[in-house]
Amino acid sequence: MVWKGGYMRVLLAEDDRIIADGLIRALREANYAVDHVNNGVAADNALVTQHYDLLIVDLGLPKMSGMEVLTRLRARKNSVPVLILTAQDGLDDRVRGLDAGADDYLTKPFALPELEARVRALTRRGTAMPSRIEFGCLSYDQSERVARCDGVILDLSARELALLEILLLKVGRLVSKDHLVDHLCSWGEEVSTNAIEVYIHRLRKKIEVGAVRINTMRGLGYSLVKADPARHDAVQ
Ligand code: CA
Repeated sequence: MVWKGGYMRVLLAEDDRIIADGLIRALREANYAVDHVNNGVAADNALVTQHYDLLIVDLGLPKMSGMEVLTRLRARKNSVPVLILTAQDGLDDRVRGLDAGADDYLTKPFALPELEARVRALTRRGTAMPSRIEFGCLSYDQSERVARCDGVILDLSARELALLEILLLKVGRLVSKDHLVDHLCSWGEEVSTNAIEVYIHRLRKKIEVGAVRINTMRGLGYSLVKADPARHDAVQ
């Protein structure tokens, strides 16, 4: 039922250590196999010798620019999907990158759920991967980013939706607060564990009208489970 990205291979070409570490962790947790290189020449070599399902490339790379890596890739008639990472003020770069054959771009800094959504969209191209997760009364469409309870669209904020997606992807299992903090925070924008409690509280009010509930394991984290009708009024 749960699709977390399968065993798709991603090449990440990014020389910023902090950004790279965050991306590697997020992609690996979503079950992507990630190879990381920190310069354009190494990226070019890897793309010549290995098969990848996705290339994530920073345009500002040492030794060979991300743009040149992309241009050389397409010149070899390699059609692997490419997501480029650009600086905030890099409008010209984005346009040139898309012209050079990139499929999508993200401007730094970006939120991890946004990156994950782009990656899913790009790696799903041409494949028959399911994009819908169902659990109890809940269904979540990953491509539309819409959650429903008993068929009715839930009015969720972007953060609440991201939170619900994480819980659905690990349904029935414990999701630690640290995991949630990692996945909900964008670079340069901290999400505290207290904020997580607030989001959980709001999400709970919206989804527990149906036959699912978010269990709290004190000090550990949360898990999404089906409600036990016999314990309808149990404390969490
Ligand atoms: Ca860079």
